[in-house]
Amino acid sequence: MHAIIEVGYLLATLSFLGGLKFMSSPKSAKTGNLIAAIGMVLAVILTFIAAITATVPYTNLIIMFLAIAVGTVVGKRLSDKVEMTGMPQLVSLFNATGGGCAMLLGLMEANQIDVSTTILGNKILLIAGLVTGAIALTGSIIAERKLAGNVKDSRSKAVIFSARILLGLILVLPIVYFIGLIPIGFTAFMYVLASIAMIYGVLFVLPIGGADMPVVISLLNSITGIATAFAGFVYGNKAMIAGGIFVGAAGILLTLLMCKAMNRSLMKVLAGTFKKSKAGAVEEEQEIKEISISETALTLSFAQKVAIIPGYGLAVAQAQHICGQLQQLLEKRNCEVDYIIHPVAGRMPGHMNVLLAEANVDYARLKEMDEGNENMAQYDTVLVLGANDVVNPAAENNPDSPVFGMPIIRAYESKQVIVMKRSMNKGYAGIQNDLFGLDNCSILFGDAKASLQEIVNQLKLV
Ligand code: NDP
Repeated sequence: MHAIIEVGYLLATLSFLGGLKFMSSPKSAKTGNLIAAIGMVLAVILTFIAAITATVPYTNLIIMFLAIAVGTVVGKRLSDKVEMTGMPQLVSLFNATGGGCAMLLGLMEANQIDVSTTILGNKILLIAGLVTGAIALTGSIIAERKLAGNVKDSRSKAVIFSARILLGLILVLPIVYFIGLIPIGFTAFMYVLASIAMIYGVLFVLPIGGADMPVVISLLNSITGIATAFAGFVYGNKAMIAGGIFVGAAGILLTLLMCKAMNRSLMKVLAGTFKKSKAGAVEEEQEIKEISISETALTLSFAQKVAIIPGYGLAVAQAQHICGQLQQLLEKRNCEVDYIIHPVAGRMPGHMNVLLAEANVDYARLKEMDEGNENMAQYDTVLVLGANDVVNPAAENNPDSPVFGMPIIRAYESKQVIVMKRSMNKGYAGIQNDLFGLDNCSILFGDAKASLQEIVNQLKLV
């Protein structure tokens, strides 16, 4: 039986790998998700079989089964209910549960092991899983609350200083404990560490604001993976180790990509030195040019090359399908349409790609930021659809701006920019957008979906 279980775990691991491979393209991402989910179901079944063959008490099996049943029902309900705009918060919550699980496993195992015979390496693994899990748990909950707009940034020196002290304690206390200078039992010590790590998780995420959240979300995702891998080592569960390493590695790679996209060094993110929004800074008055739906439709009817820059507002308006219709309509009129995607557009990595894939937009039409920027001057019209921060020239020319240094899509270099938004509200970073006052920029006020529908209706008549 042991050999069968091991082979099963290998198959589950391979399915995680295959799933990841398929997920690297939006076209095959759904299949990738399915393959990885099948691997996960297999791993869960094998864990039950392993527990039964290891004569684990039936009460434990019942508790495991009940936990899975409750998790399945709650997870399904949450996933069914969540709006596309709430997806990043849901992902953060899932992260939190993964981290919390790793932390609880560490606490339980600390209670179970024979401290006198357990080797130091295993105790270090337990501590590593516990600490990373606790940080991911509370850090992800705060990230979720911040994304939902219920928790505000707190950049006081006290918060940043306390976070650094706690990080120092997390690193130093285990060494001091193992030298024998902290006279408490191992379980009690683990509770102390878990408490410190949970408070650190809160303080680590609290100061982060403006445009830095994507890096932290992906970092927390990676930490959850690492915590899972540590827990896998503790239990000798190969699927858990492999799954955790995949998530941890993918998360770190994504974190690095996000850092590059935000022009932030990972060291600065890890050290908690985040850019400060100059909340009180005086903003220059802008002269805004408004454009009507019929003028927009007319402009588009003459354009030969159009770029669409989607942002968070596209998700809010759920305008992806009508946007796809507009693209097809323009293409029928021999107009070339490209989508230019900023790596941190929306509220989670890949947000825009997911939306556009939902609307069956051909992947070949999606251009990365650099490619779009190279050809920007060729576009007759650029439609900024619910995007704001990612097209803000302040990132290039205002050193005081909290987004300064973030690479942007240079919509301002095109012949004409039309921004679709409902009001003069600011974007996620909470700052004025210098693009809106430029001569070649006009704003079409209104909900993106309703405006696009009107434009499509009018274009059909022209
Ligand atoms: P922004 O959040 O900067 O701007 C969104 C824009 O959409 C606003 O101008 C808003 O204006 C408009 N909008 C909202 N609803 C509608 C609607 N129904 N119809 C039309 N327009 C609408 O979006 P971006 O995508 O440009 O930038 C993303 C920001 O989020 C960046 O600062 C990024 O760092 C941050 N972030 C990104 C994450 C990621 O992983 N991608 C994670 C967390 C944060 P109005 O209200 O006037 O309509």
